[in-house]
Amino acid sequence: MENSKHIVVVGAGFGGLRTVQKLCKDPVEITLVDRTNHHLFQPLLYQVATSALAPGDIAMPARGIFKRNKNVHVRMGEVVDVDKEAKQIHMENGQPIPYDYLILAPGSRHSYFGNDSWEEFAPGLKTLSDALEIRERILMSFEKAEREPDPEKRKRHETFVVVGGGPTGVELAGTIAEISTKTMREDYEHVDLDLLEIILVEGQSRILNTYDKTLSEKAARDLEKMGVKVMRNSMVTDVNERGVRIKVRESDIPDDTIAGQEFRVDAAANGQSSDTKEVFIETGTVIWGAGNAASPLLRTLDVPLEKDGRLRVDADLSVPGHPEIFVIGDAARQMNPDGIETPAIAPGAIQHGDHVARVIRADMAGKQRPEFAYFDKGSMATIGRARAIAQIRDWKFSGFFAWILWSVVHVFFLIGFRNRFRVMAEWFWFYLTFRGGSRLITRKRMDYEPALQDQE
Ligand SMILES: Cc1cc2nc3c(=O)[nH]c(=O)nc-3n(C[C@H](O)[C@H](O)[C@H](O)COP(=O)(O)OP(=O)(O)OC[C@H]3O[C@@H](n4cnc5c(N)ncnc54)[C@H](O)[C@@H]3O)c2cc1C
Repeated sequence: MENSKHIVVVGAGFGGLRTVQKLCKDPVEITLVDRTNHHLFQPLLYQVATSALAPGDIAMPARGIFKRNKNVHVRMGEVVDVDKEAKQIHMENGQPIPYDYLILAPGSRHSYFGNDSWEEFAPGLKTLSDALEIRERILMSFEKAEREPDPEKRKRHETFVVVGGGPTGVELAGTIAEISTKTMREDYEHVDLDLLEIILVEGQSRILNTYDKTLSEKAARDLEKMGVKVMRNSMVTDVNERGVRIKVRESDIPDDTIAGQEFRVDAAANGQSSDTKEVFIETGTVIWGAGNAASPLLRTLDVPLEKDGRLRVDADLSVPGHPEIFVIGDAARQMNPDGIETPAIAPGAIQHGDHVARVIRADMAGKQRPEFAYFDKGSMATIGRARAIAQIRDWKFSGFFAWILWSVVHVFFLIGFRNRFRVMAEWFWFYLTFRGGSRLITRKRMDYEPALQDQE
C-alpha cells in the first residue's frame, strides 16, 4: 500500500461517511477526521430533543462502522486549517495530516443572522449536545411549572416558542404539542393545559415553503389542530432571558391569547400608520431552527465563498483551481446545468459522497472526471404521530400513509441493525402509549432559577 493514495475526509456526517463507505474497499488509505467520535443521524435529532429517543439510538461510533476496514483510520479532533500548498490539514491538537485528496464535509451550523448573543437563550439543533440541551430546557420548564403556584408566573414555563417553520421547526413544535398534552399531563400533577402555549414563528408567508402550497397549508392546519399557534410573516427582533420579541403584522397574530403579550405599534414611533406590531412573548424556552451557515472551516481555504459561507464547487464537486480538494454536503453550493441546486438535505450529501468516490476512481484509472448532477428523489416532513407530508416529483400526499413512508425511509437509512431495531420498538411503544423513552434531566439543576429559590 506504500504508493496508494492517501484520502483525508473531514466530517463523519452523511457526505463524509458515504465517501469513505464507497472507497474503503479500493486500494487507498483513508483517514476520517471528526470532532465527535460518531456519525449522527440528524433527521431524528428532534426526537432526542423531545425525549422520544435516546442519543445512542441515532448515533454510531465511527470506529465501529469501519472496524473491519484496515485501510480506514479514524481520528477524533477539530480540524482548524487547510494548508493547500503543503497539502495537509491541521488539527487543534496533534500532528498535521498530509493528503493526496482532501474531502471536506463539515456541514453547517445554525445562523442567528448576526445576532450571536441570542444563541444562549435560543439554542439550535445540530448536534447531540444541542438535542440534550433542548431536552433539558423543555423538561426543566415542566418541573418549574409544577413548582410554581402563581398561574401568571406558571404560564411562562408552559410557553414554548420555536423559531423557523422549516422541517425541524415543524417537527419540534408538533412533538412538543404531543408530549405536552399527552405524556406530561400524566407525569405532572400541576401542569395546566389551559396555560400551554406552543408558538411556531415563521418569517415567510407559509411554513415548509420548499413544499407545494397545498402540502404546507395542510401541515399548518395539522399543527393548529394539535394546539400549535403558527405565526407567519413574523420576524424575531430580540431574544433574551425573559423571552422573545417578534415583529408581526396584526393580521398574522393567530389570536389575542398569545402568552404574555405586550403590543407596541411600531409605526407610531416614526409617525406612520401600519398594522405592524411587536409582540413580546414571556418564555424560558425558545428553540432556534431558522437559519444555516456553512462550517467556518471553509474560510481557511482562502477562496471566495457565498453569503451563507458555502463554497460554490466545480462540476466535479472540487474546489475551483484545486482538483485534489472537494467540498460536499451542506457546505457545498452545487448547481446542475438546468439550474437545479443540491438542497441541504441528507440525500444531497449522500449523492455528493457517491460522486467524489467516482471521480477519485476515474483519476486513478486515468479516465475523464464525470460531472455531478443532483437527482431529486423527493422530500418528506413529519408533523406528529401519524401525520406527515410527502412530495415525490408530481406526487403529493399527506396523512397516515405519508407518515408510514417517512418512518420506513428513516429507519432504513439509520446506521446499524441495533439502532434500527431500537428506534422501531420505541416508535411502536410511543404510538401505543404516548410515552417517550428518555425523559431524563442529567445536567441542569433546579435551583438555578432565582424566582424558584425565593419560594423555598
Ligand atoms: C435537526 C435536523 C433535521 C434534519 N432533518 C432532515 C430530514 O428529515 N431529511 C433530510 O434529508 N435531511 C435532514 N436534515 C439535513 C441533513 O441532516 C444534512 O443535510 C446532512 O447532515 C448534511 O450532511 P453533511 O455530511 O454535509 O454534514 P453533517 O451531517 O452535518 O456532518 C458534518 C460532520 O462534520 C463534523 N465537523 C464539522 N466541522 C468539523 C471540524 N472543523 N473538524 C472536525 N469535524 C468537523 C461534524 O462533527 C459532523 O459530524 C436535518 C438536519 C438537522 C440539523
